Amino acid sequence: MSHVITGGAIVGGVCGQPITHSMSPVIHNAWIAAAGLDAAYVPFAPAAERFETFVDGLRGGAMRGLNVTIPFKERALAVADTASDLARMAGAANLLMFGEDGRVHADNTDGPGLLGAIAIQAPSFDVTTAPVVILGAGGAARGAVAALLLAGAPRIAVVNRTVARAQELADTFGEKVVAKGEDALPALLPEAGLIINATSLGLGGGAGPAADLTLTPNTAVVMDMVYKPLRTEFLRRAEAAGRLTVDGLEMLLRQAMPTFEAIYGQAPSPSVDVRALALKRLGEV
Ligand code: NAP
Repeated sequence: MSHVITGGAIVGGVCGQPITHSMSPVIHNAWIAAAGLDAAYVPFAPAAERFETFVDGLRGGAMRGLNVTIPFKERALAVADTASDLARMAGAANLLMFGEDGRVHADNTDGPGLLGAIAIQAPSFDVTTAPVVILGAGGAARGAVAALLLAGAPRIAVVNRTVARAQELADTFGEKVVAKGEDALPALLPEAGLIINATSLGLGGGAGPAADLTLTPNTAVVMDMVYKPLRTEFLRRAEAAGRLTVDGLEMLLRQAMPTFEAIYGQAPSPSVDVRALALKRLGEV
């Protein structure tokens, strides 16, 4: 039976600039169809200077929840009336929920997505014991630091090309988080339990961060937030060194799960192979 949308449909969506290549509409609409929900999930690309106007327009009751992606995540937090601890700590929101009273609540499911991906692809990894090295100090790195600290990470080194940016990030989190330049990697990697690429290096098939992954302990887990291509050069180097790897696509899928539940009021059906759908869209199969 085809998917029917009535006047009572629950509407969710995603906004970003650009939004054409977003995987979220494919994922959420597959879950909607599988559950036979009277619902829709639609993409929007508001003009960059009118993001706040766009969100304010939704306060009238147009939509239950809205995912927000690059470049609007920080502004999404600022435009909201209330925010979760995670969104506040991350300094960014990837989900805005609209109340019946017109108020907007900001949340961040990127962090749970990161932890969920690690739990699935590196289940033996214990976040409470091992030092973490995060490469990059942008929005994705900040969200990762927030989620890992809340999950009990004992120590996080944020390594960035622009050390001042890493320092600014570390300063907002306190003593468990330190800022380092790339020259500190040979000293940091032999102690690291988890290494995460949160830079944009490797996107589109280029070389990943220059970190020598053979310096890491045999038990270290290596994650790449970049998922185009799925097996980035960074992950391939980690595999060649014999390290367990976690890919960015799993993070994307895992952030979508709590988002779907928040908007549509039920967990997504495990019967839909969204990873296969996403891989097909990425041209990986
Ligand atoms: P961002 O705010 O633009 O930060 C980019 C980071 O990459 C900065 O730390 C930047 O260093 C670093 N960088 C860029 N070019 C570099 C180079 N040539 N050499 C060394 N460092 C370089 O981006 P973001 O929002 O944090 O996103 C980072 C990546 O995570 C993106 O690829 C994004 O697609 C991915 N991501 C994935 C997911 C997922 O669900 N899998 C979710 C969120 C983000 P400087 O500060 O020195 O410029």
